[in-house]
Amino acid sequence: HAKSAGRDQYRMFAPQSGEGSGKRSTLEADLRRAVEEHELVHFYQPQVDLKTGKVRCVEALLRWRHPRDGIILPAIFLPLAEETGLIHDISARVMHEACDQLNEWIMQGLHGFTLAINLSASQLMDRSLMTELEDALDRTGVPSHLLEWEVKESTVMQHSSMASSLLDHVTDMQIGLSIDDFGTGYSSMAYLRRYPVRKVKIDSSFVGGLPGERDDRAITEAIISMARPLGLEVVAEGVETPQQMEFLRERGCDIAQGFFFTQPLTAEQLETWMIRH
Ligand code: C2E
Ligand code: MG
Ligand code: MG
Ligand code: MG
Repeated sequence: HAKSAGRDQYRMFAPQSGEGSGKRSTLEADLRRAVEEHELVHFYQPQVDLKTGKVRCVEALLRWRHPRDGIILPAIFLPLAEETGLIHDISARVMHEACDQLNEWIMQGLHGFTLAINLSASQLMDRSLMTELEDALDRTGVPSHLLEWEVKESTVMQHSSMASSLLDHVTDMQIGLSIDDFGTGYSSMAYLRRYPVRKVKIDSSFVGGLPGERDDRAITEAIISMARPLGLEVVAEGVETPQQMEFLRERGCDIAQGFFFTQPLTAEQLETWMIRH
């Protein structure tokens, strides 16, 4: 099915597979077509407030709806997109799709939450990213403070001047900045001073060990108690069980996201989920 099809695809172009460049360039052409034909779409996963139960944010997660192979996950196609430079076309599409979707939800009366998109280091090196974002905001009229950027801790730590000026610019625009996979980069607290970070997302590898694993408990508690006085909100990602949810709530974690609530859904499925939720 979809996941294993994705893995087979990966095997086709993994350099260590010893395959020639023929199949790889086929896949590259396939991805190029996918970008043009709008086969890359967003799925959405809610982030739920642990005090009120309200949906605080919806994270957009990219999927490739392959006409033959079904749904392919970002871990499979994003590395190729980065290597080939197709990532820049993808960035533009992501900005526009996010603003269109948010606008549509606002029109439908679904509001009160922000929309988060993920950005990689190479996307933050793209000079046209800001133009695309401003175009998308102007075109749709969506207020920029309803958007969030999720950037991995390891990306923020790279300190490229291009990425820093972009992050300064988005924060001037009131776009929220969240640190993704928090605790897995070379954690330096310095960047928390450097940028007006709004949220830190506890990596799912720590959440997965809750509540049983002592180390995971200690790390989770440490992140929460560090974040509080800094005025950061804490999001736990990869929450799958009621025990994990309860542990996080009791320790004062603000927001949770994961299969416990729902898997990432299509926009339509999310609308139905929100009404029932
Ligand atoms: P991420 O931003 O840390 O996203 C969380 C990943 O965990 C998602 O995988 C999500 O589907 C998965 N997940 C959510 N809840 C659970 C759970 O309860 N248990 C488990 N085991 N997994 C859960 P996905 O969608 O495959 O995305 C993987 C990564 O790809 C993302 O990690 C993000 O870094 C990247 N990504 C996704 N979309 C984009 C995009 O548009 N641009 C960029 N640059 N990166 C993206
Ligand atoms: Mg993310
Ligand atoms: Mg993450
Ligand atoms: Mg993660």
